[in-house]
Amino acid sequence: KDACEYTGIVEECCCDYESINDINGAVLHPLLQELVKTPFFRYFKVKLWCDCPFWPDDGMCRLRDCSVCECPEHEFPESFKKPSLHILPKDDPVCQEGKPEAAVDRTLDAKSFRGWVEIDNPWTHDDETDNGEMTYVNLQLNAERHTGYTGPSARRIWDSIYSENCPRYVYGETCPEKKVLYKLISGLHSSISSHIAADYLLDETTNKWGTNLELMHDRVLKHYDRVENLYFTFLFVLRAVTKAAAYLDQAEYDSGNNVEDLRAQFLIRQLVHDSKLQDACALPFDEAGLWQGLGGPILRQQIQNQFRNISALMDCVGCEKCRLWGKLQVLGLGTSLQILFLVDDLGNPDPQLQLQRNEVIALINLLNRLSESLIFVSKMRDNVAINPPAT
Ligand code: FAD
Repeated sequence: KDACEYTGIVEECCCDYESINDINGAVLHPLLQELVKTPFFRYFKVKLWCDCPFWPDDGMCRLRDCSVCECPEHEFPESFKKPSLHILPKDDPVCQEGKPEAAVDRTLDAKSFRGWVEIDNPWTHDDETDNGEMTYVNLQLNAERHTGYTGPSARRIWDSIYSENCPRYVYGETCPEKKVLYKLISGLHSSISSHIAADYLLDETTNKWGTNLELMHDRVLKHYDRVENLYFTFLFVLRAVTKAAAYLDQAEYDSGNNVEDLRAQFLIRQLVHDSKLQDACALPFDEAGLWQGLGGPILRQQIQNQFRNISALMDCVGCEKCRLWGKLQVLGLGTSLQILFLVDDLGNPDPQLQLQRNEVIALINLLNRLSESLIFVSKMRDNVAINPPAT
């Protein structure tokens, strides 16, 4: 049954880097930078202290900068503290007539937001309802950057992710769906490496931070596939955000600060409805057909299980700050998959989509991190072209 039975196509990419960079630089990046600073999007709920379920803790973190600064109780929004299960009455189904027939479905049902839910999420290892063990972190105070976390501990995690959970596909693999998880993780890995290179501790004695061009070249730029996977991951997450437009448009961004919350709502609307974004790279892949073929449901289940394992591996990351951003970004990827998977066998979106607040926070912050990586990659590419690193 290994012949390709799936009908969805995941093209490598349909548009050139330049068009993506243009749209990212002009529209997306400035919007996201503002959005992630709003109180709603800057506090992330996370379980930071947990045992690695696979091997004894071997974490080694050299720099003091590894540790995460937690929010004191009074700092994070009051509304985040209460369990939030206020289901709104079901609205009439919205008339779909008059919508242009599109090969690719990009919207979820309007009126789909019915309040934030707290449920155990099948895509992550952490139990989101387990409030006792969760803590709030102000992402703006805990930038993802070089921490000095390296060596066998870090290597073991990446090796386990790649070898056990998303094996590199065999050259010539014709079933594109099988490539998706590998490409997503590889793209995320490129993004993490880009952030390390962009904000690197160049001199410990003088505490001088700056760009490490050589690292960027060695880990990302000289590998064509890693750059390509970064762009793929960016487009994948962007597609998920655009597809959930109606849901995100109606969601409540309540942090208790009315002015800031209205601003978050306004920025989200701009983000999901910007026509330039909708038109950008209209068809990086056809998620309406993705995983819809005969073997689709099995592959879908397989991907979900692999994804849960990857999420569990984040508990083995031996550096707090890396674990925080690892968890957030893996949750963001899981949320994207969840949105893109929510298409029934006939290709219709599932009107029951209900996301958790933390998932949406992760989704938007992940998109912002990827968007920053794209900016950095294109800047560094120009730089490398002018000053090739010494070999
Ligand atoms: P690594 O980046 O560890 O790569 C290991 C191997 O994976 C490479 O040899 C290569 O074969 C393969 N590989 C590398 N990149 C790709 C790619 N894009 N696609 C496919 N294969 C690839 N360090 C920090 O300083 N700050 C952080 O915030 C941080 N966050 C992390 C989060 C997680 C979840 C993990 C697991 C590690 C994190 N680290 C962080 C550590 C960092 O990612 C590196 O592991 C570390 O800097 C050592 O780098 P390395 O040269 O051994 O290569």
